Order: sequence, then C-alpha cells, then structure tokens
Amino acid sequence: MKKMFIGGQWMTAHDERTLPVVSPVDGQAYDDIPRGAAHEIDLAVDAARRALDDGAWGRMTATERGRVLHGIGKKLLDHVDELTEIEARDTGKPLATARNDIVVLARYFEFYGAAADKVHGEVIPFQNGHHVSLLREPLGVTAHIIPWNYPAQMIGRTIAPALAMGNATVLKPAEDTSLSALRFAELATEAGLPAGALNVVTGLGEEAGAALAAHPGIDLISFTGSNEVGTLVQQAAARNAVKCVLELGGKSPQIVFADADLDRAVPIIVKAIIQNAGQTCTAGSRLLVEQGAFDAVVERVAQVFAKVRVGTPAMDLDCGPLMNPAQLARVNRYIDAARAAGVPVLAQGRIADGVPSGGYYARPTLFGPVPRTDALACEEVFGPVLAAMPFADEADAIALANGTPYGLLAAVWSENAGRAYRVAKAVRAGQVFVNCYGAGGGVELPFGGTKRSGHGREKGLLALEELSSTKTLVHFHG
Ligand code: NAP
Ligand code: MG
Repeated sequence: MKKMFIGGQWMTAHDERTLPVVSPVDGQAYDDIPRGAAHEIDLAVDAARRALDDGAWGRMTATERGRVLHGIGKKLLDHVDELTEIEARDTGKPLATARNDIVVLARYFEFYGAAADKVHGEVIPFQNGHHVSLLREPLGVTAHIIPWNYPAQMIGRTIAPALAMGNATVLKPAEDTSLSALRFAELATEAGLPAGALNVVTGLGEEAGAALAAHPGIDLISFTGSNEVGTLVQQAAARNAVKCVLELGGKSPQIVFADADLDRAVPIIVKAIIQNAGQTCTAGSRLLVEQGAFDAVVERVAQVFAKVRVGTPAMDLDCGPLMNPAQLARVNRYIDAARAAGVPVLAQGRIADGVPSGGYYARPTLFGPVPRTDALACEEVFGPVLAAMPFADEADAIALANGTPYGLLAAVWSENAGRAYRVAKAVRAGQVFVNCYGAGGGVELPFGGTKRSGHGREKGLLALEELSSTKTLVHFHG
C-alpha cells in the first residue's frame, strides 16, 4: 500500500481508509492509496504554512530554489524508465507517450528552475522624496487539483512554477492516477526539496478535493478538470476570496482551407485527436473543412484514421484504453447516439488483438459531415472521436470555430498567410496554431482558456505572474 506525503512524512489516512489503484489496461486493482479527506487536508495546509513561516523552504533565496528545481528535473530524468512504467500502468497510455510525459515533467522543472531568480520587481517613478518599488512575492500556500489524463505533465505544469515563486504547495491528484505524484514527491525530497514545500494528499475529489478548495488557509487554487467541478471549485474559492486558475474543457477546431498543405496537415490532425485516446483538453476534436475540399480532405484523413491502433502500454501503438469505466461508457454513448442519429461514420480505428478483456478500450471513430446541431459538434467527448464539418467561406469558418461554449486551442491550415493570420486573430482561444498543432508539451508557451474553457494562464513565464503577488512599497526619504 502506498502512503501520502504531508509535512515531509509518509502517512496513511487517520482512519486508515484506502482506495484501490486500478489499471485501465485490464481493469484489475494492483495497489492501494490512502483515502485522505478533510483531516489530512488540514494537516497538509498547516505543513505548507509552516514551511513558509518557520521552515527551510521559506528562507531559501530564489537562486537556491532554482537549484532545487533543477535538481528535481535531473532526478526525474535519472528515473525516467521507472516513472514511465508507473505512469503507463496507472493511465494505460502507450509507453512512448508516458515517457514523453515524464520528460515534459522534468522539462517544467528545468524551465522554472532556470526562471526562479529572474523574476524582478520594478521601480516606479513617483513624487519627489519617495522611492517606490514593486516587489514580486509568493502568494503563500497554493492548492493544486489535477485530473487523470496527464498526471505527470500536470504536476510539472502547476507545481514547478508555484515552487519557483516560493509558494508552498498542496497537491490533490486524481483518485485514478495518484502514483506518479507520490513517487514524484519522494524523488523531489531526495533532490533537496524541504519538508512542507510539497504536500500530496490522495483521496476522492468530493472529499479531499472539496476540502482543499474550501480551505480558508490557502491563497490560490489552481484547478484542471471538468466544467462541473471547476464551477464548484470557483464557488468554494469565492467564499474565501481566493484567486482561482481554472483550466477546463475544450472543443478545439482544426480549420482546413482548400489550399492547405495536406501532406503536413493530415497526420497532425489525426494525432491531435488520437493522442492519449482523445482524453486531452486540447484535443483537436472538430475538423472544419472548406466546402469544395471537404470530400477530398476527409478522405485523406479517413485513410490515416483507419490505420489507428489501440492497445496496451507495452504494445506501444497510437493510443491506449480510456481511463475508467465511466469514461468508456461516456465515449460509447456519444458514438452510439451519433450513429443512431444517422451521422455517417467515415472511418474507425481498431483495437489490437490480444488486449486484456477487462480493459477500457474504445474504437476511435471519425464522423462526418456532422450536423451543426449534433452533440458531437459542440460537446466535449473527451475520447477518440473526431467530428468533420464543412464551412462555406472564411466568415463561416470563424463563426463555426467560435460556435461552442469553449475556447482553448484552434489551428488554421492554409498556405495563404494573410487569411491564416486573419482567421487566427478572429478565433477566440488561448492558443492558436497556424500550420501546426500543439497538444500537450510546449512548456514555454502560455496556455489557458477563454469562455468556458477557463481563465488564468499556465506555462511559460506568465505562470510566474499568476502564481505570485505584488507589493507596492512606498518609502519617503525626504
Ligand atoms: P474532474 O472530475 O473535474 O476531476 C478533476 C480533479 O478534480 C480530480 O482531481 C478530481 O478528483 C477533483 N474533484 C472531483 N470532484 C471534486 C470536488 N467536488 N471538489 C474538488 N475537487 C474535485 O475531471 P476529470 O474527469 O478528471 O477530467 C476530465 C475533464 O477535465 C474534461 O472535461 C477535460 O477537458 C478537463 N481537462 C482540462 C484540462 C485543461 O488543461 N484545460 C486538462 C485535462 C482535463 P477525483 O478524480 O479523485 O475525483
Ligand atoms: Mg489507475
């Protein structure tokens, strides 16, 4: 049985309750994690506060913090094989994908480790006799609730910049995927991270997660997950007047004009929905194609899509199973409903022979043309389902791209640079790619949503602003 990590100590839940760790590869339980709840969240928030007020963490200079973060990055890379195995078994993703996730996790620590002592304050011109400085300070205790789709990458994305800015953190990983967070905490400690700077409380969302979001002792909550829970988290944060960064869902469009370079576009378009079995907030789940080229483009996409193979981590194919039975049922519900409504299936990938029968495998499916009113046109499936739709012209493409509640990513595919730029400017999304697509990775690139996809920015140097505060210091010297 695994233990959770609070104030530098490994512990069980005070009532000894546990949760099974189930692998989506075969549906079998293979370990247990503590079922932490409000009591353990109290301990973790206290430990984080002490780390800031009386502990070694609060006394570290920015340079020292950067050195520790760099050490963590190196430690992670030294353990890349082990962490890859842990992550692949826990999430079911192909080994190559899991390995990439661990490398990106390390990359976050390298990037923010290097940035830690390069965040400067400002001097502000003011009245004679005054010196005004703007100090950039940590927020204090920051809370981090992450989902199960990219556990390792999420740890890096949210924890590395928080630590770089000198905050003390409490992390609540998803109940389905807590193992990489626990091993990460162990390795970070070995790399010199002082007690209390990182606390990991495992448990259920509605218990440990809700207690963390509602805790009066936190100074920021960073949440990645569903819109439903994001709303609850923001309500809880509002009661304590706590700042909230929300990274929620998406329904990101690939906007393909007739003059697009299809040799380049098609494999990227397929990968952007198949990667991680479509369980990616930034999945390119809508394929919008200029009317006259629709048949030719979807035919090319269908050819590649039909070759997609789903398998176990060790098979290392295009993608793995879905995360849990609920997610499998959800994805199949969307596929069945679209079929029942008569939406044409253009291609389906295949589940490889020999996958264990208890695993949560779904067949990737390309639908089109999808009516604009169909659920597949506007709702997030969070699975390997791509909805192709034709558009009439540039204005229609923009209207269609912006026609969902979400606004996370978008891509424009065109060899006409002027048009690509116009469309990119008109699309409402936190990131827009022209003739490329960046699901996952991209540590350097500020990332986040508009509309129902959330607010606040992560990644890049902007994350350091989100995870810190300013103090305006006015000094009269005569
Ligand atoms: P979820 O149910 O919202 O869970 C996300 C996290 O919140 C988990 O750690 C979960 O814990 C916790 N949680 C659940 N109920 C809670 C509550 N009442 N209070 C506080 N925390 C609670 O989402 P999911 O099913 O894991 O992930 C799928 C969704 O997340 C999709 O909509 C996807 O688009 C979105 N997502 C967005 C991004 C992004 O960056 N924008 C990235 C990944 C996923 P338990 O798992 O233990 O219940
Ligand atoms: Mg698991």
